[in-house]
Amino acid sequence: MKKIGLLVLIAALAVGFFYFDLNQLLTLDGLKSGLAQFDTWRDESPLLVGGGFLLLYVIVTALSLPGAVIMTLAAGALFGLLWGTVIVSFASSIGATLAFLVSRYLLQDMVQSRFGNRLTAFNEGVERDGAFYLFTLRLVPIFPFFLINLLMGLTTIRAFTFYWVSQIGMFAGTLVYVNAGTQLGQLESLSGILSPSLLLSFVLLGVFPLIAKKIVDVVKARRVYAGFSKPKSFDRNLIVIGAGAGGLVSAYIAATVKAKVTLIEAHKMGGDCLNYGCIPSKALIKSAKVAHQMRHAENYGLNSSEPTFSFKKVMQRIHDVIATIEPHDSVERYSKMGVDVVQGYAKLIDPWTVEIQRNDGDTQRLTARSIVLATGARPFIPNLPGLDEVGYYTSDTMWEAFAKFDEPPKRLVVLGGGPIGCELAQSFARLGSKVTQVERSPRIMGREDEEVSKLAQESLIQDGVIMLTSHSAVRCEKEGDVKRLILEHDGHESVVEFDALICAVGREARLEGYGLESLGIETKGTIVTNDYLETLYPNIFAAGDVAGPYQFTHVASHQAWYAAVNALFGSLKKFRVDYRVIPWTTFVDPEVARVGLSEQDAKDKGIAYEMVRYELDDLDRAIADSAAKGFVKVLTVPGKDKILGVTIVGEHAGDLLAEFVLAMKHGLGLNKVLGTIHTYPTWAEANKYAAGEWKRAHAPQRILNWLEKYHAWRRG
Ligand SMILES: Cc1cc2nc3c(=O)[nH]c(=O)nc-3n(C[C@H](O)[C@H](O)[C@H](O)COP(=O)(O)OP(=O)(O)OC[C@H]3O[C@@H](n4cnc5c(N)ncnc54)[C@H](O)[C@@H]3O)c2cc1C
Repeated sequence: MKKIGLLVLIAALAVGFFYFDLNQLLTLDGLKSGLAQFDTWRDESPLLVGGGFLLLYVIVTALSLPGAVIMTLAAGALFGLLWGTVIVSFASSIGATLAFLVSRYLLQDMVQSRFGNRLTAFNEGVERDGAFYLFTLRLVPIFPFFLINLLMGLTTIRAFTFYWVSQIGMFAGTLVYVNAGTQLGQLESLSGILSPSLLLSFVLLGVFPLIAKKIVDVVKARRVYAGFSKPKSFDRNLIVIGAGAGGLVSAYIAATVKAKVTLIEAHKMGGDCLNYGCIPSKALIKSAKVAHQMRHAENYGLNSSEPTFSFKKVMQRIHDVIATIEPHDSVERYSKMGVDVVQGYAKLIDPWTVEIQRNDGDTQRLTARSIVLATGARPFIPNLPGLDEVGYYTSDTMWEAFAKFDEPPKRLVVLGGGPIGCELAQSFARLGSKVTQVERSPRIMGREDEEVSKLAQESLIQDGVIMLTSHSAVRCEKEGDVKRLILEHDGHESVVEFDALICAVGREARLEGYGLESLGIETKGTIVTNDYLETLYPNIFAAGDVAGPYQFTHVASHQAWYAAVNALFGSLKKFRVDYRVIPWTTFVDPEVARVGLSEQDAKDKGIAYEMVRYELDDLDRAIADSAAKGFVKVLTVPGKDKILGVTIVGEHAGDLLAEFVLAMKHGLGLNKVLGTIHTYPTWAEANKYAAGEWKRAHAPQRILNWLEKYHAWRRG
């Protein structure tokens, strides 16, 4: 009841404010026209006018009414810099605190009880850092102050803390605005605008947020580095931990721009991609594809034959491929570039010092002005009872282990229906394993549109994969040599016997053991970074799988550029990492490639789009290759040729996508793709035909009707 009374009072005051046109008074024009009158009143009874002004300011702020900025300028004009600042400083803080209290009284219980669980972390954050957070919001006026007052009322920050932090935080801004107001009072003619002191005041208004932001950054940096003593000089400009895609590119950039850089790798140069990921999996896919083509040689007018092969040789080829690429990522190559490569395990000691447990047994400490963490990710192992007893493989272990096999596993279980699981399941099925693929959700490759998952699923099933979607692995059992996986589906259990099991249920960032914990670097599944890839410590950066949100080699390299450049030149200019156009491909056959929005994404996010499709069974080259399966699907802005996203399913989809990636990156629309000559007969023509579909759908009907009439007239 009391709350309703308060609400009615606030509403009545707000209505009164607008009814009596007080809002007109609180405009620049209103202020200027009334200034002379106010001046007279102030001269007659300064205390009364000062007190009345303070009260009005408090009411305007407490009721979150518009006009506080004008009133601040007015304070300068009426009372001068000193008294204007004193009045506004107190009035704004008292008014803000009243608004804060009203919001707390009316809404806090409701908000906290409704969203309490989800607000726990936020409340903890406010309790720990609320004062500082409020201080930065006050100092850098990005959000309107009335919003801050109301939102802070919903948190658990103490009212007194809110008051004094607000008063201190707003002081600098108040001073700048009141000062501008003092000049406004002297603005009598247009030429007054050019007076140096007025110009200076406006310049101050403009640069104030920048200066304030800089101050906040300095204060923040001081807070995080408090307790550490910064070395007076550094051994290196940059230390990079991890020599996968993210680390290699970071070190490469640093060496290219002549920085002194150390790259530390605990295990194998090249990281996951070269040794356990992209490269071995793609080499395996190739062998499997050849086996598949032999089996289906009749598609090309040849005799089909069941491929006979030595699995050892297939695995040997994979290791040969790795060995051939290895020099690209080798210690020798990077040393020649000027990178100091150290093989050993690195650990952060403080924000500038790294200790290395070298592989040769020595321990070494190095300091650097900046550090890039590119420590990658590893396979996630589900908590499945009995899994350790039956034994399992992951992408980390399978390449070495399978190299010792004479034949591919007879009965193979692949846990996981993501890209890695799908690529491996199809490859081993093609090489003759009886593969059972298990996916908990209703479809594989759940990140893609439903029709894409369906096509991929059909293709895998055609290759012999037993596809168990909507099946959860419950436990593993072992009886003598017999290994079993128990699954649950629709409330029923079923059993799959297997000889080998590969876990491909996702990858988790490496977050423990190298100092993140002791330095308090925040992690949430990956290392928490800002838009510049800075961690909690602005001189420590993260890139690649350990930083997320994507887990691709090309994204790791992309991030590495930002991490390295910001690490080396951030004090001059920092660059925000740009995730606008991120392509990826899943190398199942047919390939699935995507950039930008999928249809499902667009629907989920409520983004308006138009869609055009081109079916590959129409493409001359696809028909000639007996691979006329799949499509190019392009999402565009309604009525425009601007590309929002592309999905391609088909042979060479990953390569075809590049044209759209370029177009999106550089703002080229479908008209430009259509206007580009594509060699005949190539797969790339599919892109042009998709653009043609868009053009057809947007043909200017009225002009065409006129043209028809024109030609009829010409025929006479
Ligand atoms: C089977 C499979 C297939 C894949 N296929 C593709 C694909 O086709 N295309 C694609 O784009 N991506 C693919 N990926 C993903 C790709 O491999 C990763 O995204 C990429 O390797 C990430 O690079 P990174 O530099 O972040 O990490 P990593 O390559 O994992 O490198 C991190 C390195 O840091 C080292 N390290 C960690 N901690 C320390 C420490 N404290 N001190 C010293 N060194 C340390 C590790 O030993 C490791 O070498 C695939 C992955 C897998 C598993």
